[in-house]
Amino acid sequence: MAAKIKRNDTVQVMAGKDRGRRGDVRQVLPRDGRAIVTGVNMMKKHQRARSPQEPGGIIQSEAPIQIANLAVVCRACDRAVRVGFKVLEDGSKVRVCKHCNETID
Ligand SMILES: [Zn+2]
Repeated sequence: MAAKIKRNDTVQVMAGKDRGRRGDVRQVLPRDGRAIVTGVNMMKKHQRARSPQEPGGIIQSEAPIQIANLAVVCRACDRAVRVGFKVLEDGSKVRVCKHCNETID
């Protein structure tokens, strides 16, 4: 199965506490079925001081979120959409927006 969500995609959260929020995919963790999205699923972490340059304290960072709860935002119609796939004449596979049929890749 081809990947629905890729690095640098703009995605929208469809479920959970960050529902409706958008961000860019920084990393996909295919084995976990999760992805890290900028500004989504922020977790506070207590960081011990490691050196005078890294004083520690509470830092915020993104925790991975289930890919099943994400939808790609189509740049053409600017909404969270379902993604379909299309095979081009040269045999390469691209993602298309099921709403407006624009190519997403
Ligand atoms: Zn679209």
